[in-house]
Amino acid sequence: MPLLEMCKVTRQYTKGNQVVHALRGVDLAIDKGAFLSIVGPSGSGKSTLLNIIGCLDAPSSGEVIYNGQPLRAMSENGLADYRKNHIAFIFQSFNLIPVLTVRENVELPLVIERKWTRRQMQDKAMAVITAVELGDMADRLPKELSGGQEQRVAIARALVKQPLVVLADEPTANLDSKTAENVISIMQRLNREQQTTFVFSTHDRMMEQHANRVVTLRDGLIASDTRKES
Ligand code: ADP
Ligand code: MG
Repeated sequence: MPLLEMCKVTRQYTKGNQVVHALRGVDLAIDKGAFLSIVGPSGSGKSTLLNIIGCLDAPSSGEVIYNGQPLRAMSENGLADYRKNHIAFIFQSFNLIPVLTVRENVELPLVIERKWTRRQMQDKAMAVITAVELGDMADRLPKELSGGQEQRVAIARALVKQPLVVLADEPTANLDSKTAENVISIMQRLNREQQTTFVFSTHDRMMEQHANRVVTLRDGLIASDTRKES
C-alpha cells in the first residue's frame, strides 16, 4: 500500500469570472521512503499539488489517501494530527524567525507541543542541527547565516518532530547551484538514513538528477513519471 495517494484530484480557482484549472485529475501514488521530485513549468500546478498533500488546500474533487485512509473521511482530530505530526513543510523563502537563534528556531515546533522538557528539546534540536551539518552554528541568528545554511535550518526544523513526509516547495529556488546541490544532497542523505519520504518541487534540472523518481506536471496533469534504479 502506498503511503500517500492522490486519486483523480482536481483543483479549480475562480479569479473574477475566470476559472483556472490548477490540477485537472492527478493520479499519483507515493511509497514510503520515496525521494520524489515534482517538475514542470511555472503555473503547471506544482505548489497546488504539494499544498493539497499537506492539507494547506483541499481538492475541488478527488481524494487524497494517507495510509489507506481518505483525508476527507478523517475526523478533525485525525486531520490535525496528520498536519502537525506526520508531515512537515519547507518553503522557498526559509521562513525562519529572525530574533531566534538557530537552535531556538528548530526547537519551536517542540515548544508549541508543550510536552517536552527543556533538556529534551535541546537534545532533539541539536541532533537534527548536527544532521544538517550546522552543529557549530546553533547559537547564531539567521541573519548571520548564508542562504544555504538558512535553508538547512529550515530542513532541521521540519525534521525535529520526525515526520514521515517532508514536502518542499522549490526549496532551492533562492540558492545558487552549488549551494542547492549541497542542500539537496543533505535531504537525500536524511532520506536514506531515516527513511523520511521527501516530495519536493523544482524547476532546476540539476536537482532532478538527485531524485529517484521524477514526476512532470504540465497544465495540471502528469505528463511523465520516471523512476530510476537506486
Ligand atoms: P506552480 O507551482 O507549478 O507554478 P501553481 O500550483 O502555483 O503552479 O499554480 C497553478 C495554476 O493555478 C496557475 O495558473 C496559478 O495562477 C493558479 N493559482 C494558484 N493558486 C491560485 C489562487 N490562490 N487563486 C487563483 N489562481 C491560483
Ligand atoms: Mg509554485
